[in-house]
Amino acid sequence: SEDVNKTKTEYLKSFQYESGLLLSTWIVIRIDGCHFHRFSEAHKFEKPNDEAALNLMNSCAVGVLEEFNDIVFSYGVSDEYSFVLKKESQLYGRRASDIVSAVVSYFSSMYTMKWKDFFPHREIIYPAYFDGRAVCYPSSHILRDYLAWRQVDCHINNQYNTCFWMLVKSGKTKSAAQTYLKGTQVQEKNELLAQLSGTTDYYNKLPPMFCLGSSVYRSKKEKNTVDEKEEGGIVDKLCEKVVIEYCNIIEPSFWEAHPEILD
Ligand code: ATP
Ligand code: ATP
Ligand code: MG
Ligand code: MG
Repeated sequence: SEDVNKTKTEYLKSFQYESGLLLSTWIVIRIDGCHFHRFSEAHKFEKPNDEAALNLMNSCAVGVLEEFNDIVFSYGVSDEYSFVLKKESQLYGRRASDIVSAVVSYFSSMYTMKWKDFFPHREIIYPAYFDGRAVCYPSSHILRDYLAWRQVDCHINNQYNTCFWMLVKSGKTKSAAQTYLKGTQVQEKNELLAQLSGTTDYYNKLPPMFCLGSSVYRSKKEKNTVDEKEEGGIVDKLCEKVVIEYCNIIEPSFWEAHPEILD
């Protein structure tokens, strides 16, 4: 009967066939908060950008990079994060559902666990949850296009939201603010911000985290450490640290300064 059981197990397993994501491609796992419009209102996020909420997202991303060694870079904005796995990754045999579900659930658990560190005086009133998808990008060139797309999106949304909330805070209703902004170009939005705030470069003075989003990656730096085995001798060690930066990832200079990320 052990043989019968084994055959039955194999028969049932044959239904869950899933091939891995294409070999030698960058795997991007993008997660996004579910119904965060509502979640952010229920939890009284500051509009348009709640700094503590963004820092919480970033802290969860750091946790994800510390847990999953194959993730080489990640970029986050608003309620979303994109995690880039190295081309050669064999995590879960490259099966999309295994990778996505593990990353998404790890991130969601961290979000609830770390909530009190970022909102010490505000209870989390219901669970935050995220969806996720996996996409393969066949070259680092295309991967950089993907990341640039997310950063452009961050900029466009942030500029719109900054204008929108400034109009609302100046007394307009939400629908009036929406109508007012419909079809406005970048230049008109800049002028509007200058006019409403009374400063010429209001947008450029916003915290870089709001305008550029957050990049989380492993920084390899040589660091002098005291090696105990060498009786107090100073040795150079390559130390890896997960860092958060708010930088332009559209321009080549970032990637030229960090060639190890996409090598
Ligand atoms: P879906 O479930 O389809 O993703 P959603 O309500 O999460 O719907 P998104 O397009 O993902 O919609 O937008 C996320 C929303 O969450 C933003 O529009 C914004 O209102 C809110 N939000 C997320 N992060 C912040 C933050 N740090 N500060 C203020 N609001 C935020
Ligand atoms: P993987 O990451 O591959 O899933 P795993 O360690 O989670 O590895 P599983 O095959 O999923 O392995 O098995 C789950 C294991 O978790 C069980 O073997 C058992 O040791 C433990 N476990 C789960 N639930 C309980 C429980 N209620 N009481 C005691 N042990 C449990
Ligand atoms: Mg969302
Ligand atoms: Mg979103």
